[in-house]
Amino acid sequence: MRTVMTLFGTRPEIIRLSEFFKEVERRGFRHVMVNTGQNYSKSLNAAFFAELGIRDADYHFGIEEPSIGKQIGQVIARTEEVVLKEKPELLFVLGDTNSGLGALAAAHHGVKVAHWEAGMRSFNWEMPEEKNRHVIDGLSDFLFPYTEDARRNLLLEGFKPNSIFVTGNPIVDVLEKWRKRIAGSRALAQHKLKEKGYFLATVHRVENVDRKGRFAEILKGFGLVAKRYGKPVLYPIHPRAKDKLAKFQLKAPEGVRLVEPLGFFDFAQLERHAACLLTDSGTVQEEGVYFRVPCVSVRKATERPETVECGSNIVSGIDAGNIAACVGAALETKPTWEYSLGDGRASVKA
Ligand code: UDP
Repeated sequence: MRTVMTLFGTRPEIIRLSEFFKEVERRGFRHVMVNTGQNYSKSLNAAFFAELGIRDADYHFGIEEPSIGKQIGQVIARTEEVVLKEKPELLFVLGDTNSGLGALAAAHHGVKVAHWEAGMRSFNWEMPEEKNRHVIDGLSDFLFPYTEDARRNLLLEGFKPNSIFVTGNPIVDVLEKWRKRIAGSRALAQHKLKEKGYFLATVHRVENVDRKGRFAEILKGFGLVAKRYGKPVLYPIHPRAKDKLAKFQLKAPEGVRLVEPLGFFDFAQLERHAACLLTDSGTVQEEGVYFRVPCVSVRKATERPETVECGSNIVSGIDAGNIAACVGAALETKPTWEYSLGDGRASVKA
């Protein structure tokens, strides 16, 4: 039987791959699932397995190493052990995380590598994810970009056309599959929010929260947004952002409500009914397109230019005044964008 190994470890990987995992097994492959544990907390990893109906991983590395070098080193070393033991024909990774760098071990042992979300480029070298994208694409035999733009990036970098297959975006598969569960979530009532009566925020990227001045400026921007537009900002705070908040002794300004990270159905429901999304997440930009909710990306650049070109997303940078001004523009936007992320069959195509 042919063996496919999947390697993942963070919240967005688990969510996006959830239907693909099932598809691999439906097609009769022997599937070796490997969770690096890069997002170690229950709220960012374990909870999604139960919610999205994913079976337990075959290997769980439990890598909780805060040093980047040691984390990447352990991912590569532990992946090599599994590759040698399980002898997969193909290693399948998604996205731009340190977990995906385990592809290096597979490539060195002659295992073919497939990269989903290939070709995404922010052209902002400050982002750790941008470095990982280049490395993982470079190691891959099969490149599965979501979009034609991403395919073009790969062609411009000299990748062979016959190794590239555009699939569409797997987040659509997941949102469609769980549409009823998302609609049935009680998150609005639980957080005492009204439809379009709040902003939903997530900020956790290294370049935004690891520097005190930047994180403080973003929080100030959220405070301005709450005050100027008279609606609270709900901010389910990622554990690494929460750690930095404590370390820098920062406080959420008035109108900004910090809560623990939410389950996928609850978070998606809150996205759907928000007046606007404020985020540095990649996936949330796309979910804004899907739910027809405007998004302000609190970043210097996006690797998802299609979301901007279609009119759904505005890249604000991190200046507090700019964040508030961009939210004003976003609130005036009519959700008329035509852009489609995919047809809900990306997991089958990949
Ligand atoms: N998400 C969630 N609960 C939260 C915040 C986000 O389920 O409290 C989901 C969100 O819907 C999206 C994914 O997590 O599907 C985004 O993850 P993250 O922002 O960590 O990663 P990125 O997309 O930036 O790689």
